[in-house]
Amino acid sequence: MIIAIDGTTSSGKGTLAKRLAAHYKLPHMDTGLLYRAVAASAINKGIDFSDERECALLAAHVELSEFDERELRGASVGAAASVVASLGAVRRALFELQRKFANQKGGAVLDGRDIGTVIAPDADVKLWVDASVEERARRRFLELSGMKEDVTEHGVLMQLKERDARDAGRADAPMKPADDAIWLETTALTPDECFAKAVEIVEEHRGKPKPAAKKAAAKAVAKKPKG
Ligand code: C5P
Repeated sequence: MIIAIDGTTSSGKGTLAKRLAAHYKLPHMDTGLLYRAVAASAINKGIDFSDERECALLAAHVELSEFDERELRGASVGAAASVVASLGAVRRALFELQRKFANQKGGAVLDGRDIGTVIAPDADVKLWVDASVEERARRRFLELSGMKEDVTEHGVLMQLKERDARDAGRADAPMKPADDAIWLETTALTPDECFAKAVEIVEEHRGKPKPAAKKAAAKAVAKKPKG
C-alpha cells in the first residue's frame, strides 16, 4: 500500500506520516528532507540558488546520511529548501529516488508537497493535511524555540506565509491537493486525534478502486458488446 501525504508546512503531516508508517509497518520517506539537504549543500559549498545546473548536480548526488538532521530541520534551511525546490532541474534530479521509494515492494508512506500529484499519482490513499496558518505558526514557533532558535511567533507566521506562497505558486509541481486526496484539517486536533482520523480514512479507502481505475472499468463496461 502506498500512502501519499501532502500538505502545508507545520500542518502535522510529518508526525502523522511517521506514525502511519509505524502503524502499517511501512518504510517512510520525508521528502522535504531531500530538498533541505540540497539547500544545505548549496549553502555549504557557496553555490548560488539561482545556479540551477549546479543545484541539480547536488540533488543528483544527495546523500541524507551525510547531514545532521537537526541542522536540516532549522528555519533558515527550510526557507532555502523552498527556493531550491522551485528549480525544475532539482525536482527532476530527485524524482527517480522518490518514485523508486514509493514503488518498492510492499509499499511506503511518503510525505511532501507533490506526492499525490507527481511522485505517486497512483497511491492507494492520498491525504491532504492542513491547518490554519496561525495554528501552524504557533506549532512551528514552539518547535523552533525548543531547538533554541532565536525566533518570534510573528516572524514565524510571516515566514510560513511566504513559504506557502512560494510552494503553491511555483510553475513546477506546485503544492496542491490531488483531485482524489482526502482532506484532513488539523487545526483543532491533537496529534493523537489526527492519527486516529487518518487511520479511519486509510481503512475506509485502501483497496477501493482509484478514480482512474474506476474510469477505465466504466469505459470497458460501456464498450462491452451487448448480448
Ligand atoms: O516539508 P519541509 O518543510 O521539510 O519541506 C521543505 C521545503 O521543501 C518545502 O517548503 C517545499 O518547498 C519543498 N518540498 C517540495 N516538495 C516536496 C517536499 C518538500 O517542494 N515533496
